[in-house]
Amino acid sequence: MRLLVAEDEARIADYLKQGLTENGFVVDVAADGEEALHLAGTGEYDLLVLDLMLPLRDGFSVLSELRRAGVQTPVICLTARDAVGDRVRGLELGADDYLVKPFVFAELLARVRSVLRRGPARHSEVLAIADLEVDLPRHRASRGGARLNLTPKEFALLALLARHAGEVLSRTVIAEQVWDINFDSDFNVVEVAIRRLRAKVDDPFAVKLVHTVRGVGYVLEEREGGAPA
Ligand code: CA
Repeated sequence: MRLLVAEDEARIADYLKQGLTENGFVVDVAADGEEALHLAGTGEYDLLVLDLMLPLRDGFSVLSELRRAGVQTPVICLTARDAVGDRVRGLELGADDYLVKPFVFAELLARVRSVLRRGPARHSEVLAIADLEVDLPRHRASRGGARLNLTPKEFALLALLARHAGEVLSRTVIAEQVWDINFDSDFNVVEVAIRRLRAKVDDPFAVKLVHTVRGVGYVLEEREGGAPA
C-alpha cells in the first residue's frame, strides 16, 4: 500500500512517515499543496493524508481539484483547527475521514486502515443510472453502451450529478464544485454547461435523465415514464 502524506511541518511529516513505514506502508511526503496535487494527481496512491493548512495551495483546494479531476483516492484530512465548518467543508469536498491535531499516531493508523478497508470499492466505481454509465476512474461515460464524447468539464459535471443521483444540486454547489466559482453572475456558466451536457447525454435519447428543478437546481435521475421535466 502506497500512501502520500501532505504535511508542511517537517517534524510531523517525519513522525507520520516513520510510523506508517514501520507499519508496512510505502510513504511519500509532499511539503506543499502544489506538490501534493501533482503527486496525488498521478492516481498512484492508495490513500492521501492531507493537512488542510499547506503553503502554496491549501488542502481544501487540493481536495477539490483532485475530486473535480475524477481522482477518487481516499483522503484523510488533518487540521489544527477544530472548526465544525472545516470538517463539513472537507467532507463535502469528498474527504473520507477527518482528524484534528494533535492526534495520537495509533488513532491515525486506525483511521488509515479503516478507510483503506472500504477503499477499493471506490477505485472501481462505475455509476449506473438507467442506461447511463459513468466510469469515474476511467473518465468515461456511455448511454446504451455507446460512448459519450464529453469534454473534461462536461465529464466533471456529469460525474458530480451522478455521484448525487436523485439529489437536487443547486447551481451554487455545481459552480463551486465544478468551476470553483461562487458568484451569482456566473450562474449562467452552469446553465450553459447543463445545456451542452444535455445535448450529448439526453437529446439523442427518449428517456431524459438531467432534470431542472425550477428555482432550485438540477437533478440526475430516471423518472417514471421518462417524461421530460
Ligand atoms: Ca500545516
